[in-house]
Amino acid sequence: MQKWNDLADRVLNGDSISRSEAMEVVEADDDQLLPIMHAAFRVRSHHHGRRMRIHVLQNAKSGVCPEDCSFCSQSMEYEAEVNQYGMQQVEELVDNAKEAYDKGAVTYCIVTATRGPVPDEIDIICEATERIKDEYPMDICASLGLLEEGQAEQLAEAGVDRYNHNLETSSDYFEEIVSTHDWQDRVDTVKRAKNAGMEACCGGIVGMNEEKDDWVKLAFALRDIGVESVPINFLNPRPGTPMDEVDKLNPRECLKALAMFRLVHPEADVRVAGGREVVLGHMQPLSFYAANSFFTEGYLTTGGQGDSKDYTMIEQAGFEPVIVEEGPDRDLEGVDPAATDEDVTQTTCAAE
Ligand code: SF4
Repeated sequence: MQKWNDLADRVLNGDSISRSEAMEVVEADDDQLLPIMHAAFRVRSHHHGRRMRIHVLQNAKSGVCPEDCSFCSQSMEYEAEVNQYGMQQVEELVDNAKEAYDKGAVTYCIVTATRGPVPDEIDIICEATERIKDEYPMDICASLGLLEEGQAEQLAEAGVDRYNHNLETSSDYFEEIVSTHDWQDRVDTVKRAKNAGMEACCGGIVGMNEEKDDWVKLAFALRDIGVESVPINFLNPRPGTPMDEVDKLNPRECLKALAMFRLVHPEADVRVAGGREVVLGHMQPLSFYAANSFFTEGYLTTGGQGDSKDYTMIEQAGFEPVIVEEGPDRDLEGVDPAATDEDVTQTTCAAE
């Protein structure tokens, strides 16, 4: 449809879409899905070609979070059955970084389930980051919760490239899903990370019974902050959490949401994150027309379809995995080295 092409033209010319146009995208009929994905793809391909950035998550501290985010199985408030363990040590983080590197990851995302890091945890992340960056040419993203004064600077100095802290949803809806901290706390942490010199990875979750208007508000709030990376998760309701009976979104709604985030964030690293396999199902490859990155090898508490299927899907859909320069031990079976992009320095995190 010409209307969506005109929208893409305007974005490519450097204009922003309006909030009402963003609403039109997410509220469009399913008949409009392919023209909308085409418009998103024109913007995506202008900035990112057909490249897909692969990220691997490391859950460095699991299932012991005192916060009460109602979508999250790692909150100790709920009865969800997840692995519980304290902070991993440097050696383990470095060993797992090697595995991520061997799977073709450009970014290794270290995530802890916590309100915020204590000094010892910051020390572990800093030492692990220095060692990993010495040995493997990957970017490091840290996702450690709310940051106190000075902690962002420590991480940036150790070489952490990007800090993840999702706003999750709009400021209006946030209090429906979290009571132990507020939306502005999250904004403050993202700004603190940016001020320290790290890039901001900051997105949210769709499908928590919020309105589509909340998706648009989130997209524009992220644009106002100037985040470099926008991970979009689709709620995969976890047993034992207050959201365990929420109906999953249908994949067409998710794809329109991704397209809207792309049109609002033309240059950002838009990531199709948690819930990709279970919520998008057979429609997964269409998400690549809006998103330019994803996680392989599963999420923090849920599995994925595996890196082999992920790479096959990328190849069959005609996209190219981005890989960093090859190291001596790198085994990149299924990864096309022609897609190497050494200039890209991006990162990401936090998914279910
Ligand atoms: S989303 Fe993060 S802060 Fe909230 S309960 Fe889960 S681990 Fe804790």
